[in-house]
Amino acid sequence: MAAKKPFLNFLKNLDTAAEILQLSEAEKEALATPEAIHETEIEFSRDSGETETVTAYRVQHNSARGPYKGGIRYHHEADLEEVKALASLMSFKCSVVNIPMGGGKGGIKINPKPLSETELESLSRVYFRWGTENGIFGVNKDVPAPDVYTTPQIMSWMLDEHEKILGHKSPGVITGKPLELGGSLGRNYSTAMGGFYVLQKHLAKLGKKPVDTTIAVQGFGNAGSYFAEIAHEAGYKIVAVSDSKGGICCDSDGYFEVKSLKEWKKQAGSFRGNFCEGDTCDIEKMKKSQVKVISNEELLKLDVDVLVLAALDGVVHDENADEISAKLILELANGPVTPEADEILEKKGIEVLPDILANAGGVTVSYFEWVQNRSGDVWEEDYVNAKLKKIMENAYSDLEKAREKFAFQPGSRQAGISWRQAAFIVAIDRIIAAMKLRGTLK
Ligand code: GLU
Repeated sequence: MAAKKPFLNFLKNLDTAAEILQLSEAEKEALATPEAIHETEIEFSRDSGETETVTAYRVQHNSARGPYKGGIRYHHEADLEEVKALASLMSFKCSVVNIPMGGGKGGIKINPKPLSETELESLSRVYFRWGTENGIFGVNKDVPAPDVYTTPQIMSWMLDEHEKILGHKSPGVITGKPLELGGSLGRNYSTAMGGFYVLQKHLAKLGKKPVDTTIAVQGFGNAGSYFAEIAHEAGYKIVAVSDSKGGICCDSDGYFEVKSLKEWKKQAGSFRGNFCEGDTCDIEKMKKSQVKVISNEELLKLDVDVLVLAALDGVVHDENADEISAKLILELANGPVTPEADEILEKKGIEVLPDILANAGGVTVSYFEWVQNRSGDVWEEDYVNAKLKKIMENAYSDLEKAREKFAFQPGSRQAGISWRQAAFIVAIDRIIAAMKLRGTLK
């Protein structure tokens, strides 16, 4: 597989949409260029008493529609190219769901898994101190949230550090907090819930019933595990799941009980670990549980109705896209399908409900959290979910309208445009309009 190039992928998608929309060079340039890039080396304390230096980023892509919004990830592969891409996608994501926020993203290049709790706290506080003292973060300026390997606890330390420096409370400076510190009900499963509402609407349009719909879920972190639970409860058939160690699928016509999946994952730390030790797998145990152990790559190629991508970016690419057999892909992760793969899938007639629509439930409930924090209100869970449903369904309808409007346009590769192209078009249209109204773009 070729090296990942997330920002180039974003630019490629931007180019295609720009061609369809016939954007001017100035308009394209404005969307291709982040408003600010912050990069620094931060020093945090190790339990040994030594300090360690790591590279940290915050990219602020566009604030025409509101304060920058987007998570912070801790990952050993985080780099400027990736954070720039993710920040840009955040501007577009917020625009697709039409919430009044811009886009930003933060990252620290570190593998957080070996860190102790105190080390993680030190790292998180130092990062947020840097962002606060340099005027990067602020409730009306740039509002971070969790992303890959960052948690509500990390948000709590960051909030505390911010408020200590400010000398007063400002809970809306960060979202994805625990409920005790002003987090919103429904935020923990909102990415999955938002994706589920989109999928429901799409399948209902196709006349496809939950009991007749098989789903494979790649990635069983926050988004993937909640999605499996929500879909299972609604009557969909979860027939395969995976985590970073590998996957399992149903060895019969049946489907998984999500309760068992959670137990397996909890007991052995991974699905595969329940049935195999190294290369040796317990055939009897697998038979009894009607499970077949598969690789992550095999899971991607299963013949299912819906493939849910809920792990990292770039997993469906030019070299494996041709072997995808699912009828539909739902992107719960950011950037899991590359532009090259998109073209291949399109030719095969496989639709992709793109990240900036499908996983926008997370940032939408983050926005609800921000609204609650600024008003001092606390919303009920049903109210949060009803509002989320409406926003996700409206966004889906807006994309549908764009697909109708821009079918047979120059720049579209075939009759009609993809969901991703439609999402980019809707997002771009709104951001450009905001920039023009402000006079920052002529
Ligand atoms: N990290 C999430 C995303 O990529 C959530 C961002 C947020 O809540 O601000 O959408």
